[in-house]
Amino acid sequence: MAIAILAPTRDTSVWRDGMLKLDPSLEIRTFPDLGDYHDIECAVVWNHPRGMLREFPSLKVICSMGAGVDHIISDPDIPRHIPITKIVDERLSFSMSNYIVMAVLHHHRRWDKYMRDKTNQTWDQAANPEIDIKVGIMGFGALGQDAGKKLTALGFEVHGLSRTQVGFEGITTYGEDDTDLFLSRINVLVCLLPLVSENVGILNYTLFQKMNKGTYLINVARGGHQVGNDIKRALDEGLLSGAFLDVFEEEPLPKGHWMWQHSDIQISPHNASLTNPTAAIPQIIDNYRRVLQGAKLINQIDREKGY
Ligand code: NDP
Repeated sequence: MAIAILAPTRDTSVWRDGMLKLDPSLEIRTFPDLGDYHDIECAVVWNHPRGMLREFPSLKVICSMGAGVDHIISDPDIPRHIPITKIVDERLSFSMSNYIVMAVLHHHRRWDKYMRDKTNQTWDQAANPEIDIKVGIMGFGALGQDAGKKLTALGFEVHGLSRTQVGFEGITTYGEDDTDLFLSRINVLVCLLPLVSENVGILNYTLFQKMNKGTYLINVARGGHQVGNDIKRALDEGLLSGAFLDVFEEEPLPKGHWMWQHSDIQISPHNASLTNPTAAIPQIIDNYRRVLQGAKLINQIDREKGY
């Protein structure tokens, strides 16, 4: 019986080698050399070929190679009864939280202004060098809570929004029904939502109108959450003071796109936090063993919720 790695857009050799190093007895097959489909019990996937997962009759578990599972859930042919797991790991949180802290400090310390001042050789000691901020984390899950904890430790006021309100020391938390209250209390919005159908295009003009004027947007979730044209309109009208974006509706962001030129937008190429195979592989192998033993899986997603 075998584990199949289905990740046509990635170099899978490090994953294959890492799994074999952990357990040389494993049978690992990588797309497209999958052998007999009847052998595949575990599929380790990132942007797998659509429809392929229903072709493995012995499949027992599908493991995402990252924290996001939208690339799996968006395939309508995934068998309903097969459990899906995602990666939760400290290294992923470390990188994501550092990115968010960097983006928050960039805004808080008015770094756009000081970069412009440097270009113009302007020594402006009169201006206030800090913006008073209250950070809202929309999607207060595994990654959001780690970022919230670290921002709180730096002394920032943090608010966390999830579907169901969670208790969290030092952070004011909200449930989905209180989204408008949450938005009214913050002026930096960090998006860390999963990309399920209800959240597609959630960062739109209607939402921006509900926020305090001049709110700063940080999107580190998925490009499908944001409506680019609405961000432009909100920037033009001052509803947004700027945006720090790691993800885009179209990736790679096309050359010539207006966002490249906009002085109030910072851009990174969807690399806020990359999965570390060394941390992810033991979780995947652990889950493979668990599913064979009929034991409870770790980091299993809720199929109803889609994350
Ligand atoms: P989790 O599933 O742990 O957390 C998601 C959170 O979002 C939960 O608190 C959930 O609430 C909340 N949520 C979902 N929908 C809504 C909504 N409509 N309104 C309010 N809250 C909502 O996910 P992770 O923290 O592990 O990851 C978050 C996302 O980050 C991933 O889905 C992925 O897309 C993205 N990501 C991006 C990376 C990058 O490099 N840019 C790297 C890694 C991940 P509840 O629990 O109550 O249901």
